[in-house]
Amino acid sequence: MILRIDNLVKHYGQVRAVDGLSLEIGQGEVLGLVGESGSGKSTVGKCVLRLAEPTSGSIALDGRDITHLSRRAMRPLRRDVHMVFQDPYSSLNPRFTIEQIVGEPLLRHRAATRREVGARVAAMLEQVGLRPEMGSRFPHELSGGQRQRVGLARALILGPKLVVADEPVSALDVSVQASVLNLISDLQREMGFSCLFITHDLSVVEFLADRVAVMYLGKIVESGPTAQIFAEPRHPYTQALLSAAPVADPVKQRQRRRIVLGGDVPSPLDPPPGCRFHTRCPLAFDRCRTDEPELTDPRAGGHPAACHLVTADRVPDATGR
Ligand code: SF4
Repeated sequence: MILRIDNLVKHYGQVRAVDGLSLEIGQGEVLGLVGESGSGKSTVGKCVLRLAEPTSGSIALDGRDITHLSRRAMRPLRRDVHMVFQDPYSSLNPRFTIEQIVGEPLLRHRAATRREVGARVAAMLEQVGLRPEMGSRFPHELSGGQRQRVGLARALILGPKLVVADEPVSALDVSVQASVLNLISDLQREMGFSCLFITHDLSVVEFLADRVAVMYLGKIVESGPTAQIFAEPRHPYTQALLSAAPVADPVKQRQRRRIVLGGDVPSPLDPPPGCRFHTRCPLAFDRCRTDEPELTDPRAGGHPAACHLVTADRVPDATGR
């Protein structure tokens, strides 16, 4: 197991950003962590990278508990886990050339001599589909898609075991999103790193992730193999997210019933009692307002969902068919 998160809690003062979350990522596995803004999904990524200090719970990286490691003790482990950010522009230092940016982790971790850096960077740039001559350019001379390729090259140059990708394509034009997603998928297969892929867009992870975990207000409400989540979503929230995602087939698109969720995600300052989704759930009933459903799988061999209506012989259908 590359990453194991157990009952993670992260509160910022009164804000309960992550409120008891567990997940695991195996060797070479891609987990899509999906949720609207305000769900706490980015906070999970920050805790894994120790950019945020967990309030409680534990995080183990490759079998080692890193929950409360000091910055210094964490330093050698930073070779193994890298982040790809949403906005490639603000994450690349504008005063440095692409070669300096991509090569910096090699020098910081003494993984290459100054003389070797140029060749290593050129090879990595080619791997992400950029010409090696790009190394002498500056970030502002590149397009958004090219910059995100540079971000990937920098994250991958040390051959990390785990990549945390936080909305890596959502700042890009739709026309270049697919090519960057394909690139991430190809690189993941070639290099074999594990990946925590954080996104608000469920459709993005369909072809990339082995498993999906859906988050709502600091908790996972459903998780399972990607094909199962798409074929048989069990939680009304997952059903709503899927109903909003575009479908390539126009016939299926017409047949589909959309679930329009009312309002925004409630404030994590004061999450609703009972099922946190009850204020927006089209199927909510009395019990939902008082009893919190557990993330369980009452249907043997399926996948867990946190909803009172998922029983051994029934799965709710929020589309009302
Ligand atoms: Fe909806 Fe109730 Fe299920 Fe929550 S427990 S998702 S409110 S039906």
